[in-house]
Amino acid sequence: MKIQFHRASISDDEVNAVSDVIRSGWLTMGLKTFEFEEKFRSYVNAPHAIALNSCTAALHLALKVIGVKEGDEVIVPAMTFAATANVVLHLGARPVIVDIERDTHLIDIKKIEENITDKTRAIIPVHYSGQSCDMDEIMKLAKLYGLYVIGDAAHALPAGYRHKMIGSMGDITCFSFYVTKTITTGEGGMAITSNSEWADRMRTLRLHGINRDAWKRYSFEGTWQYDIDEPGYKYNTTDINSAIGVEQLKKIEGMWQRRIEIAQKYNDAFFSLEGLFPYVVKGDRESSWHLYPLRLNLEGLKIDRDSFMNELKEIGISTSVHFIPLYKFSYYLKNGLAAGGYGNCDWVFERSLSLPIYPDLEDSEVDYIIDRVTEILKRNKR
Ligand SMILES: *Cc1c(COP(=O)(O)O)cnc(C)c1O
Repeated sequence: MKIQFHRASISDDEVNAVSDVIRSGWLTMGLKTFEFEEKFRSYVNAPHAIALNSCTAALHLALKVIGVKEGDEVIVPAMTFAATANVVLHLGARPVIVDIERDTHLIDIKKIEENITDKTRAIIPVHYSGQSCDMDEIMKLAKLYGLYVIGDAAHALPAGYRHKMIGSMGDITCFSFYVTKTITTGEGGMAITSNSEWADRMRTLRLHGINRDAWKRYSFEGTWQYDIDEPGYKYNTTDINSAIGVEQLKKIEGMWQRRIEIAQKYNDAFFSLEGLFPYVVKGDRESSWHLYPLRLNLEGLKIDRDSFMNELKEIGISTSVHFIPLYKFSYYLKNGLAAGGYGNCDWVFERSLSLPIYPDLEDSEVDYIIDRVTEILKRNKR
């Protein structure tokens, strides 16, 4: 058996939607993108949704419109994809990297408070694996210290926190449609917010700062004239990508249910298994189950994380690691951004891997993974 770490769920619906866009002759951002924004906005129940070419672009523009600038500090968790902190650096600000909790891999809220200074402008909670951070606590801190909250929900579509949809709390929330994420447009992202001024500014900044988008300029009602108030970026998405997004959104609930089903099978098999520490999703959260973290009890095993992954690979099961902690990268080390005190993140990084979990994974494949993981653990018991 050969089981890929990820396979996107793409059917004729996406293929046909894309070919319609290509045949229309309007391939870049236009009506299809506006349709995707409207459907996404309504799905997550947000006042404004701005489609972009990545979640990285969304995070960058979010920090820009709340006013993050040189000399400011933004608090980020140690266990995330580099994009979360890189965008802070793009604005000349300093990412303040803080430790996570062992059980959930989410930012440790006590450590947030310890790291707030008079330069702190924002917190970026990362909803790791699709589990929401404790937003009530984060919003309390934000209010107390006058900080903005920019959610990195790259993993978390859809997800719930205390019966609220992800993105309903905080100032701006950013989603990813990269190919491995829970829905995909190939590459893509979305920012949602209830602030209409920020929404307008992000729309302008996504296309060079031009105060009129190309669709309006080139359509019959449009005019060729435009102005630029501030230099923007080339962060727009295209109708080709958005056509995929519209189709993926139609199936999102079914795809989510399938992920939950697989996670349940893994939980049933692994929770009582010796050699593992269960990954905890708190009772008041509904995870998107973008990732299924497996955590090895190294003290009870004769094998380390890397050899465990290699064994799986040799029998056809691809796994991955999410993530290399930010403080291990040369740039962050060289620039004094690895402050230390990352005991929990080190603990998690040493023993975690991510198992395949995606809607098109077959039951027989899930069973095979469970079987093999169990066998390797038993054989390597100390
Ligand atoms: C994937 C990911 C991103 C970046 O998403 P892109 O759409 O590829 O820019 C940001 N943060 C986290 C936590 C991610 O996993």
